[in-house]
Amino acid sequence: MQNISVIGSGTMGNGIAHVFAQHGYQVSLIDISETALEKALATIGKNLDRQIAKEKITEADKTATLGNITTFTSVEEGVKSSDLVVEAATENFEIKKQIFKTMDENAPTSAILATNTSSISITKIAAETSRPGQVIGMHFMNPVPIMKLVEVIRGYATTDATTASVMELSKNLTKVPVEVNDYPGFVANRILMPMINEAIYSLFEGVAGVEEIDTVMKLGMAHPMGPLQLADFIGLDVCLSILHVLHDGFGNPKYAPCPLLVNMVTAGYKGVKTGEGFYKYTPGSKDLVVSEMFK
Ligand code: NAD
Repeated sequence: MQNISVIGSGTMGNGIAHVFAQHGYQVSLIDISETALEKALATIGKNLDRQIAKEKITEADKTATLGNITTFTSVEEGVKSSDLVVEAATENFEIKKQIFKTMDENAPTSAILATNTSSISITKIAAETSRPGQVIGMHFMNPVPIMKLVEVIRGYATTDATTASVMELSKNLTKVPVEVNDYPGFVANRILMPMINEAIYSLFEGVAGVEEIDTVMKLGMAHPMGPLQLADFIGLDVCLSILHVLHDGFGNPKYAPCPLLVNMVTAGYKGVKTGEGFYKYTPGSKDLVVSEMFK
């Protein structure tokens, strides 16, 4: 495999493009938004500068990495000569369905079509294509250049050959791939989201405050970030939507989202991305300040 297309150049897409390009792959980075593509290239440049500052790579590596990336605003054009496409567009089934149809019609018939979805069924996405055996989940973690894990998710019809190729490719990126099957939340979010929901319930029921809950999990369980801070980082709207997927998928009330989470998202308090969730975020400051709502 040499030609990789990445669809969506947002938070995850730019990181995925960065990692492939840095390992010598030719990357076609595709987004409907020209502005998103410009922002992605700027972010990749900044992240490479950080690696140079830490003496992990050289100026020449940066030039080579950026030279391996070509941008496109059309999926049709951007996937024409791909060996693998990694879709990292907005988490919305209708959007992904359309992208997979277009990819299926335009990418070489041998190409593997992967998705970085956090919660949508791989089997359901694969069913929209004429090659469900070549559709697979390739779930990178944020921030992609730093996090080692790739959760490789086999849909109902994903073949052994497709899985083996993606496992090997992930290792070539110096990532650690873990193979899992396609059930709601896969493994990562099936375990993480109920923990975050339980932390929010603990706050909601007055068991403890924001800092206290996060401190217990940081110091007591050696988590680098408390669950409430992590929820802010992921996006409270994203957490809510994944909990809905777990609740609907298993039909088990234990996954019902905490009413406090529902209220916060409805009110527009979505965490880091909106400047406030369980904590308040001030641009340029790294201080962790609990939101006025929870003082
Ligand atoms: P994002 O909103 O930062 O970026 C999405 C990008 O997709 C945007 O730039 C948008 O312009 C583009 N896009 C939308 N429709 C498109 C189309 N039809 N064709 C091409 N581009 C299109 O989103 P993100 O946080 O990078 O998430 C992307 C995917 O990765 C989602 O499926 C999400 O569930 C998954 N994911 C996110 C995280 C995370 O921490 N953010 C972690 C793991 C997986």
